[in-house]
Amino acid sequence: MRITGDDEYKKYDLDNANNFDSELIERKTRKRHEEGYQKREEKRSDRHYKQHQRVLNKCNQCYFNETRFLQDYVIAESDTVYVAFPSSISPLHPQDKEPLTHLVISPKSHFGNFVEIDEQIQTELRNFQKSIIAFYLECFGMQTVFLETSIQSDHFIPHAQMECVGFTNDDTDMEVFFKKSLQDDDSEWGTHKKIIDTKARKGMIWRCMPSTGQFNYVHIDFNGMGGFAHVIEDSKKFGKTKALEVLGGAMGHDFVNLSIPYRKEKAEKYVKDIRQRFKKYDWTRYGGSKK
Ligand SMILES: [Zn+2]
Repeated sequence: MRITGDDEYKKYDLDNANNFDSELIERKTRKRHEEGYQKREEKRSDRHYKQHQRVLNKCNQCYFNETRFLQDYVIAESDTVYVAFPSSISPLHPQDKEPLTHLVISPKSHFGNFVEIDEQIQTELRNFQKSIIAFYLECFGMQTVFLETSIQSDHFIPHAQMECVGFTNDDTDMEVFFKKSLQDDDSEWGTHKKIIDTKARKGMIWRCMPSTGQFNYVHIDFNGMGGFAHVIEDSKKFGKTKALEVLGGAMGHDFVNLSIPYRKEKAEKYVKDIRQRFKKYDWTRYGGSKK
């Protein structure tokens, strides 16, 4: 009589047979779970996609959104970036002066912030920053502060925008003013201070922060030489115009109402004036990327 080997014996072992079955069931159940998960994920990303499409359709800062984009406010443009007069907020400017020293730079396509932009946009953005620094300095004797507030949520990814504001104060004072104001808020809200120095990278925020994951920050850069980024922990308490309001305060405005933009006719007059003066400093006119 042949003695059945262990392996062979298992074939007839009831317990093992049961085990086999239960493994099969487990595999099938897992598969069903995975399929369910995948379907849910697909549904979720589909919903996310539709939500994003709705944001894009409504976005008046997307250059290619023909029905909403305010082409009339564009001061200068390259292949992937444009410079415009602020259309949705009141421009900041020293008191009793015309509002010619507040511009915004944005990528033409929809990006959530300047950490996410690609290399071509980075280069064109840097060039426009240099153009604006020279423009403010030579035409108005002013320094330039660049401000970006990036506040995103699952439901809304606003269009990246960099405020470029001329100021007459000493820039070191301006930095101290900003830091103090943001730190005061930190202690007020009981959060940890999270300041990232961007001077070593000359304000190139995409080299200072990780491009993955959702995070909110405000970045302040003086004359394109860097400054600091402040991580926003509670975006509900940190409004998207807060940094501009701080800047308004530093510039000696008693009250800055950022919710009332200029009337269109008035804005267009300023746009015309800025376009005329900016021409000389526009890097795209000197053999660079042109539209
Ligand atoms: Zn957009």
